[in-house]
Amino acid sequence: MMNIADEVLSRINIVEVVSQYVQLRKTGRNFVGLCPFHKEKTPSFTVSLEKQIFYCFGCNEGGNAINFLMKYDGLTFQEAIESLARQYGIKIKKDFVKRNNAFDALSRLAEYYHKNLMSSRIALNYLKARGIGNDIIEEFMIGYSERSRESLANFIKKTNIQTDVFINTGIVRTKEGEIYDIFRGRIVMPIFDVNKKIVGFGGRTIEKDGFPKYINSPESSVFSKGSSLFGIDKARKSIAEKDEVFIVEGYFDHISLYMNGFKNVVSTLGTSVTEGQLSKLRNYTENITLMLDGDEAGIKSALRLIGVFSEMDINGNMVVLPDGHDPDSFLREKGKEVMNDTMRLKKSILDYYFDYCMKKWGMKTLENKKAFIKSVMPHIEVIKNTVSRRLYVKRLSELTGVEERYFFRSMSKGSVHEKKVLNQHSYNQIGKKVIGALMSYPELLSVFRDKEVINYIKDVNIRDVLQKMFSHYTEKGNLELNDFMQSLDKDELKSLVLNGVFDVAECTEDEINIIVKDYSRHLSKTFKKEEARKITERLSAAEKIGDVNTINKLLEKKRQILSFTKN
Ligand SMILES: [Zn+2]
Repeated sequence: MMNIADEVLSRINIVEVVSQYVQLRKTGRNFVGLCPFHKEKTPSFTVSLEKQIFYCFGCNEGGNAINFLMKYDGLTFQEAIESLARQYGIKIKKDFVKRNNAFDALSRLAEYYHKNLMSSRIALNYLKARGIGNDIIEEFMIGYSERSRESLANFIKKTNIQTDVFINTGIVRTKEGEIYDIFRGRIVMPIFDVNKKIVGFGGRTIEKDGFPKYINSPESSVFSKGSSLFGIDKARKSIAEKDEVFIVEGYFDHISLYMNGFKNVVSTLGTSVTEGQLSKLRNYTENITLMLDGDEAGIKSALRLIGVFSEMDINGNMVVLPDGHDPDSFLREKGKEVMNDTMRLKKSILDYYFDYCMKKWGMKTLENKKAFIKSVMPHIEVIKNTVSRRLYVKRLSELTGVEERYFFRSMSKGSVHEKKVLNQHSYNQIGKKVIGALMSYPELLSVFRDKEVINYIKDVNIRDVLQKMFSHYTEKGNLELNDFMQSLDKDELKSLVLNGVFDVAECTEDEINIIVKDYSRHLSKTFKKEEARKITERLSAAEKIGDVNTINKLLEKKRQILSFTKN
């Protein structure tokens, strides 16, 4: 029997639905328009009439008509279905509207924590001591988790949401038949997504020897630490207006800056900045500035991002606060004027690193200069933009007195590595196409005769999706798009599938055949090479102890594998 979502989807037309919000134009088999989810001048938002899906090549948003409405109007899954059903006059059963999903559970939990906070003297005092007053507590919906299991159980009972839904968020757990929550004894900060929906929480202990100091919600179907940003819901507008964003590391730093009028700030959840977070921010601005501790660890983690920034065309800068200050302590000690001046002194990460290394090594002796070059050179090499790369080389040459051409020569040696990365990159492009191809022609899955080769795919997401395709197809005998999409738990995976589907939309069946077969051959080769490498390792071990029997066996195996690779 069809479920209600499928039924609604089968009776509507996505082009019609989207057209109410976005002006669409037909090109080839698809419709395109300006994406409503990110700023753009040339359309990368694509709708397929045939497949009844949309996808934006600019910001990777995508899905079916239900997903579109959820995103556009900030509706829940149920609300979006109801809205579509109303428009198209489709009758849906009442009991379907049982509010029973993770988002509901999380928002009820937030209310519960918030209520706890308002009646907890110690928690309120703690916030007061940090300069956080009632208006901010309300605006951020800050909460507190008290230790009582009974009160938590009562609360859950009252919500009419099944306990399992709470347990699936990873926040509520059971132990010896009793339930408890992971945040007990902590101030709890709801983490909102851009649509102001709560996806998780961060918690800071206020108990003297509470350990660890900070914890976050565990990863779940709605929460991913690596792509969530605390404060994005409130900062989004200001980021777009000022065309710049600052990233800090903790939510108290964020709140402190926010209270002082710095609104274009987001914070990671106490972790270092990830590519997922950057690509989210990249939808609003290309000017991204990190505000980090000036210690070695802070700089190291910023350096790691030079290549990423360059790859994503981000104008990446950093601001370093002096003397072990974090933004919160700095603001409290120096005030917002000084903070404002400091933020304006931002520098590119590499400029900062140049200064840092010059201070560290000095430039007096030849050895110093060598050490300096060795430290900065790898970070210059990863810059994609030729002009800025040349400028840094020029500066390096001026500082050290070594001629520029020497650096260019050593860089071209490095390009072997670049080629390898490029190659891998293009295989990822093909992998994506293969996913799209298999969605339309799932019978081609049989091309991968040895399923094990899939484990050798370097890109985790592609690997994940292909593995899931196999099990889905084996289990259900088909690969129906909506059905399969629903089985995927991460947004990245969903985008990947949609991206792939559109990528091959204009391909003929012959072309699709070639794409899939080439990819499968590439994987088999990688697989065999890896096997051969392992055998070589075992061979040298066997040779060391003179185990002739094993040596012969391994040699034979290697011969077989290599002859296969040649074919
Ligand atoms: Zn977009």
